[in-house]
Amino acid sequence: MCAVIWRERGRAGSWLTRPVLVAFLFSVALHTLWDTNLFFFGLPVAIAGIYALRRVMAEGLSHQAEALSALSLMHEGPSTADSANTVVCQRCDTRFPATAIYCVRCGLALV
Ligand SMILES: [Zn+2]
Repeated sequence: MCAVIWRERGRAGSWLTRPVLVAFLFSVALHTLWDTNLFFFGLPVAIAGIYALRRVMAEGLSHQAEALSALSLMHEGPSTADSANTVVCQRCDTRFPATAIYCVRCGLALV
């Protein structure tokens, strides 16, 4: 919820946008299922939650790749922002797209 509200800030006149409403209903539905019967709905709720988290992380990596590309801190080439194709900074453990050259957090060269 907080991530969606943060992402939507400034896009419209109000913070209550369609993505915020969808995220709210999604989280209410998952909590309702979780509280209804943990034994029966626990696994589907966990899978849905992990899937949603992976989508948010992939979107974040995509935005990070766009920002790095705009700063000319990435090699030229196709966008490789999926979570399976990343490189991790040896100094600060921050994850970046595989085409990143420098860590934007600590400045260490990634290649
Ligand atoms: Zn680093």
